[in-house]
Amino acid sequence: MTMIFDNTYARDLPGTYLRLAPDPAPAPQLLVLNHPLAARLGLTLDDGDAARWFSGASLPPGADPIAQAYAGHQFGGFSPQLGDGRAHLLGEIVAPDGNRFDIQLKGSGRTPFSRGGDGKAAVGPMLREVVISEFMAAMGVPTTRALAVVATGEEIWRETKLPGAVLARVAASHLRVGTFQFFANRGDKAQLKAVADYAIARHDPDLAGADSPYLAFLDAVIGRQAKLIADWMGLGFIHGVMNTDNMAISGETIDYGPCAFMEGYAPGTVFSSIDHTGRYAYANQPLILGWNLARLAETLVPLIDSDPDRAVDLANGLLEGIAGRYRSAWLAVMRKKLGLVGEDEGDAALADDLLTAMAGADWTLTFRRLATPATLRPLFEDFSAMEAWLPRWQARAGEGAAERVAQANPAVIPRNHKVEEALTAATDGDMAPFEALLTAIRQPFVEREAFLLPAPSGFGSYVTYCGT
Ligand code: AMP
Ligand code: MG
Repeated sequence: MTMIFDNTYARDLPGTYLRLAPDPAPAPQLLVLNHPLAARLGLTLDDGDAARWFSGASLPPGADPIAQAYAGHQFGGFSPQLGDGRAHLLGEIVAPDGNRFDIQLKGSGRTPFSRGGDGKAAVGPMLREVVISEFMAAMGVPTTRALAVVATGEEIWRETKLPGAVLARVAASHLRVGTFQFFANRGDKAQLKAVADYAIARHDPDLAGADSPYLAFLDAVIGRQAKLIADWMGLGFIHGVMNTDNMAISGETIDYGPCAFMEGYAPGTVFSSIDHTGRYAYANQPLILGWNLARLAETLVPLIDSDPDRAVDLANGLLEGIAGRYRSAWLAVMRKKLGLVGEDEGDAALADDLLTAMAGADWTLTFRRLATPATLRPLFEDFSAMEAWLPRWQARAGEGAAERVAQANPAVIPRNHKVEEALTAATDGDMAPFEALLTAIRQPFVEREAFLLPAPSGFGSYVTYCGT
């Protein structure tokens, strides 16, 4: 098997990374190999090569491993130097359709960016990334993908001793808001411009000739991110760590840490053990979208116009539009979920009123069961508001709504108790529950009995921990 690398980041952006090899895994054992993704990338991978190459035990020919530098605002506080503290970018490959992808190892050992960390990852969190990102992909939500997970044969220390693993991650790129912040913060305008030009060439080549390519680039990133967060909200997804270093320029969901899906609808839902203030709560995500993009805009100001006042005005013009663009993207998501054809003035109120009516009811099942309204009642503690809402919706949605709703809303999501059950078993060496879960979430519209219902009561106060 071969992988043909073409490593533009390492070649074109010297000074933005450190070149160093991953730690070789002592006893690599392949846990997951994503065959559909390999096919999409034009790779035919055999298990032995996959186990070695995607654990750092050996390098595929043409790989040029590097750790990328980036900065970032973490929970609102700026860290001027984060960077790949436990990841190695092996390089880039070009898929048969011409799209370019990064292949990165995560959990592959310490780098000069590691600070206090051990550079490692445990089996559980890496498998969580697989299952959540595969579900995103199945739902058509832009996301980085997992090509493989390899157990390293090492034990690592967290609260307890855990089996170590490396994830091979595929991304449109690993450029983050934080990548721009790293160079902007140093006042290194030349390097900042090099990164911006690279990002435009890679993600928005049509903009290279625009009057103001950097402003157009900001506009493009805003558009992608507004749509992404709207997709998350439609699925009840809570990322958990929307730090600026975890926001990708490509518009893909990246860095699945303490993420999870909301079950009973509650806008303030938080799962992450470290999110004490609810900064990244479900309903705050659209606000953080704007906050993070403002940080990106600040970095681009020196490139947008030589007159700083004019540059700030131009950037602010775009930032002021974010809330409206997000709202439109969200409304498009909601129209689809509600099976509404075309656009009607009352659609926004219809969607907003549903949220009010469904307080506490299971997010996923409420939408799914709109196809069979008689089955909705048991989901609600108090059905009166929903009872009043349903005829309004039925009048607007009209013929064929049941089918459209069933095609837009998943029956199966990675429910927290199923994810936990699968990761716990995998950590103990039993991959069967994980494989069953993966099969189910890859076909989210297929009603598989064992995956349909929320956790039995008692699982309500689910807590997730950072993916370390
Ligand atoms: P994250 O919260 O996973 O997005 O990571 C934030 C920063 O912490 C990044 O710079 C990571 O590379 C670094 N990091 C996270 N976990 C580890 C670890 N176990 N060892 C070293 N660095 C880490
Ligand atoms: Mg991160």
